[in-house]
Amino acid sequence: MNNWKTIHYLPLLLFCFVFTITQAQETNPFVEGLLNKMTLDEKIGQLNLPGGGDVITGQAKSSDIANKIAAGKVGGLLSLTTVEKIREVQKIAVEKSRLKIPLLFGLDVIHGYKTTFPIPLGLSTSWDIPLIEKTARMAAQEASADGINWTFSPMVDISRDPRWGRVSEGSGEDPYLGSEIAKAMVRGYQGDDLTKNNTIISCVKHFALYGASEAGRDYNTVDMGRIRMYNEYLPPYKAAINAGVGSVMASFNEIDGIPATGNKWLLTDLLRKQWGFEGFVVTDYTGINEMIAHGMGDLQTTSALALNAGVDMDMVGEGFLTTLSKSLAEGKIKIEQIDNAVRRILKAKYDLGLFDDPYKYCEVKRAKKEVYTKENRDFAREVATQSMVLLKNENQLLPLKRTGTIALVGPLANTSENMAGTWSVSTEQSKSIALLEGIREAAGKKVKITYAKGSNLTYDPELEENATMFGKSLNRDNRSDAELLNEALEVAEKADVIVAALGEAAEFSGESSSRTNIEIPQVQKDLLNALLKTGKPVVLVLFTGRPLVLKEESKTVPAILNVWFPGSEAGLAISDVLFGDVNPSGKLTATFPQSVGQIPIYYNHKNTGRPLQNKEGKFEKFTSNYIDERNEPVYPFGYGLSYTTFKYENLNISSDTMLENDSLAVTVNVTNTGNYDGKEVVQLYIRDLVGSVTRPVKELKGFQKIALKKGETKKVTFILTLEDLKFYNYNLDFVAEPGEFEVFVGGDSNVEQKVTFTLK
Ligand code: BGC
Repeated sequence: MNNWKTIHYLPLLLFCFVFTITQAQETNPFVEGLLNKMTLDEKIGQLNLPGGGDVITGQAKSSDIANKIAAGKVGGLLSLTTVEKIREVQKIAVEKSRLKIPLLFGLDVIHGYKTTFPIPLGLSTSWDIPLIEKTARMAAQEASADGINWTFSPMVDISRDPRWGRVSEGSGEDPYLGSEIAKAMVRGYQGDDLTKNNTIISCVKHFALYGASEAGRDYNTVDMGRIRMYNEYLPPYKAAINAGVGSVMASFNEIDGIPATGNKWLLTDLLRKQWGFEGFVVTDYTGINEMIAHGMGDLQTTSALALNAGVDMDMVGEGFLTTLSKSLAEGKIKIEQIDNAVRRILKAKYDLGLFDDPYKYCEVKRAKKEVYTKENRDFAREVATQSMVLLKNENQLLPLKRTGTIALVGPLANTSENMAGTWSVSTEQSKSIALLEGIREAAGKKVKITYAKGSNLTYDPELEENATMFGKSLNRDNRSDAELLNEALEVAEKADVIVAALGEAAEFSGESSSRTNIEIPQVQKDLLNALLKTGKPVVLVLFTGRPLVLKEESKTVPAILNVWFPGSEAGLAISDVLFGDVNPSGKLTATFPQSVGQIPIYYNHKNTGRPLQNKEGKFEKFTSNYIDERNEPVYPFGYGLSYTTFKYENLNISSDTMLENDSLAVTVNVTNTGNYDGKEVVQLYIRDLVGSVTRPVKELKGFQKIALKKGETKKVTFILTLEDLKFYNYNLDFVAEPGEFEVFVGGDSNVEQKVTFTLK
């Protein structure tokens, strides 16, 4: 009987044994040992992430923050910069606090540190994954040399609404491309070993769905069905988790009626249980406090809600610090939850190697050698050229010849402050190279460059005021609009070609910079029209942090080069492209609409039951369209020109059937048929013709950026696998359904060339 019992229970015993081993592997003895020594207050202190506060401006030692750190009430600091200050503050933590636990130092290192790359939307239009990874690597290298060990990047929020100012911070509208970029950035920041002194913890944000805020107004409500969520908005966050991102930031918006910061389904069921995330979750800036305004209760209630939902660290608001012990005493939270949160934060510090050497990021000499070097800036220049998108180039007006007189006109022609774009908190703005400076340097001796400002950024000084985050000056000119215009026309009349540097100022986009009118501001349009009337050729160099409505300009202006905000080396990089030293190869990652009324507009939409039938896009009664606007955008996703041209031929698929374990090769020949060497982003889209739920009309599933010499042909091969055909069905199972598929390969999302196959 005894024997029988043992045999009977053997599987269970074995399971317990294996389970204990796995548990033991997961828990970290060092972290557990430390946790056992901690008082409740010390534990809660680890969950607190205040701002750098008075340390930023004054002496660390005598600051209020310093007292809190010494008392063990701080787990990390937000936005404290310079290696000297960080070292001083770390010293307080490891010498004055009872348990000597080092601090995390987090900063928004978003598109570079001191050496600044194009805004993230611009990085995405390079479609160059290794290049993007290298920007994150370099950003981590510079930031870590200056004391930072944690970055609040990548921002992977899918957005289809260019009114939302934060489209500038993400990778556009596509989940596949967004996921590839998310992975690359996590790899770039974290490297393969966090204990090195040049790798830092990455934080994917804003979890989740922040880019779908209603009406494009920042911080606004989000309401979305699960099928859309899983298929279209969640993939880039999941990709970052799969790439091993160390932390996740909860978003400001609500999801299914509960703010993300207090949403247990999101932060625990989905993030930890379904996706297996093991790092730590931080709120966004005062996210817990903001749940009071959302109507979720007082600070004690929202703090308990956040902890119970799965938040580990409280950014800035100190809700955890001031209320968690009371909530514990009242039984509103459990000590296990606090312990788990502390464990995760200590584990992050352990993974970084901070317990071995709390000053590993604090070698003062390193910053001098590694930050904003010539080599880094040269790379930033190269990256910026790769991000630019040539939207129009009638009669091959571009590239410009290095002869004659070029009139550079516009309020964005001579402004260093606007070159780095939004969220460039560590950039020394005045050092960025303005277009005027860059073009003078690049033009050479045979060209005369003349300049006039032409207009202010807007007619309305109040709008300009509203767009001055971080106190950036927009240098409003005191001269009258007429004076500015006349000066520009005089300069233009004497030139052979006019380059108009127009668009948005840096802070017209970014956080809390939503716009309802996303056209080029009227005063600049008036300037542009006056320049066009001179009859001289006009090149529009467009600065923007979002897709703009360019309906008019796309018709009237012969050449448009979209440069986003190119970063530190802006002026030089733009000149490289204007003069043809670099052939532009960027392709849009977000749709440019005809009008605000079309928004949300995106290429991978569903079909309706009444799609427009005619190819010309003419109005048809009782089909899905507008009486006053066409359906198609001005410029679609994936679009971008080159100084050369490319021809796609011989699209082929290795078989017209795919079995479950099979894969298919899709090939196409791409030829450079123009007069310049160039790069092309070859894009592959699929359409699943019949599904158990409705499927998008096109979905990006592959891309390759290839270089072709003039006249050269390359055969490009994509391997399609079952994985590429999968989607979340009605039950949220990730499946591929048998049936017919179309495969399109071409240079933008309007591509019509296709082959078909059947999944058996
Ligand atoms: C933004 C985050 C940022 C945080 C810390 C918030 O306002 O939403 O993206 O990381 O501030 O600076």
